[in-house]
Amino acid sequence: MNLKGKNVLVVGLGKTGEAVCHFLLHQGAQIKVSEKKTPEELGEKISFWKQEGIMVEAGKHEQRSFYEVDLIVPSPGVPLLPEIKAAKAQGVRIISEIELAYNFLQGKIVGITGSNGKSTTASLTHKILKEGGVSSYLAGNIGTPLISLVERSKKDNVYVTEISSFQLQYIEHFRASVSVFLNISPDHLDWHPSFDDYYKAKKKLISFQEENDTAILNQDDSLVWDLHTEAKSQVYAFSRKKKVSPGCFLQGDWIILTDTEEKKLMNTSEIPLLGSHNQENIMAAALVGYLFGLPLTRIRKSIRKFKGLEHRLEKVTTINGVDFYNDSKATNVDATLKSTQSFQQKIILILGGRDKGGDFKKLQRSIQDRAKKIILIGEASEKIKNVLKDILPMNEVSSLEEAVRASFSEAKPGEVVLFAPACTSFDMFRNFEERGEIFKQEVFNLKKEMEKEKVF
Ligand code: ADP
Repeated sequence: MNLKGKNVLVVGLGKTGEAVCHFLLHQGAQIKVSEKKTPEELGEKISFWKQEGIMVEAGKHEQRSFYEVDLIVPSPGVPLLPEIKAAKAQGVRIISEIELAYNFLQGKIVGITGSNGKSTTASLTHKILKEGGVSSYLAGNIGTPLISLVERSKKDNVYVTEISSFQLQYIEHFRASVSVFLNISPDHLDWHPSFDDYYKAKKKLISFQEENDTAILNQDDSLVWDLHTEAKSQVYAFSRKKKVSPGCFLQGDWIILTDTEEKKLMNTSEIPLLGSHNQENIMAAALVGYLFGLPLTRIRKSIRKFKGLEHRLEKVTTINGVDFYNDSKATNVDATLKSTQSFQQKIILILGGRDKGGDFKKLQRSIQDRAKKIILIGEASEKIKNVLKDILPMNEVSSLEEAVRASFSEAKPGEVVLFAPACTSFDMFRNFEERGEIFKQEVFNLKKEMEKEKVF
């Protein structure tokens, strides 16, 4: 791919958009940016890029800008804009950042996708590889955009890359040497026109692979497992429900890895993360380590030391015997479902935020058994209330401070307050990180007050 002198439009000027601009500049492309944020919101970014010779169209997307180019690179968070659709219909080439990177990257790609668990699995996989002596780099949402790693990439490096459906939507040739497909459930239906469209984008990670590549597929997820018949690559399975081969499975309390023979990887009691969903993430990550030739003892050691990521089923603290958990990253129904299923104790569940088209009915059975009250917050409160009102008592609040306090007043020692909202944060917060930070801060504020009360 020769970009010298080519007219390229970068849509979105976030972390990935800026990384794409840097790369394109070095390649000698003529770049323009179109970003919906206003010049005020973008601040100094505009003058910085202007100095670099890049025109930034801010606060709007002019259709003309999308027609006048050889190539469009939309950032992962950019919705399916009518301007992009129209340009596509006119024959303008549209590729994602990972596709751009793929054209120039040296080294192997481990691509990790799924509706939930990408960041956790990618981080753990990277840790296993790095601690096992592989020259591994973490790319994607939680790491660095893949495009930023291209210029210093080397043949012997491995790029563990978290890949979303948005990134896969616009690939042409992108091929992972090892792909991992964790699960699929309705998500991002505010972005994709249908679940089928979302699934179609995701499955490209597998269908673009060749014979000498490997795919690691969740055999317990029928839509994921269906892909084993159409995959050209060699398939390894993982399952919590049945014996699989080659692959990784759960047998009683043991995680077993099998290829030519069955070997014990570890006992589930050694896993430092809560929840059966994390057993799945661990099996997938362990298989990647195995494929790179690492001994099981080393893989096991890295898993035992993995503390998990912030805002994913993260224990905050205990107040008067009540445990508080922050799962702000549970932005869809399936993640919240898995989260609630991770506890034996009774739960007070905080739900709500901006709805992504989720089917909250799916929570019914799990919360009926495990939760004793729901605290609602944010835009989706009304919708959730209508769906779950006959299942459990609910209380609507208007801030996270109130949510924390209302939950605590309902909880008895030995019970859990779980913040796993099943919605995005964008109605009240900048992102899930900010939402999680504020939740934790409110919990710590409450703790301080309770400690003061004890003193007086
Ligand atoms: P992603 O990068 O795909 O959003 P994360 O690792 O950030 O995944 O986790 C997102 C949410 O999904 C968290 O609430 C987490 O507890 C939950 N989760 C993690 N792994 C899984 C899994 N395998 N299945 C379902 N939910 C999961």
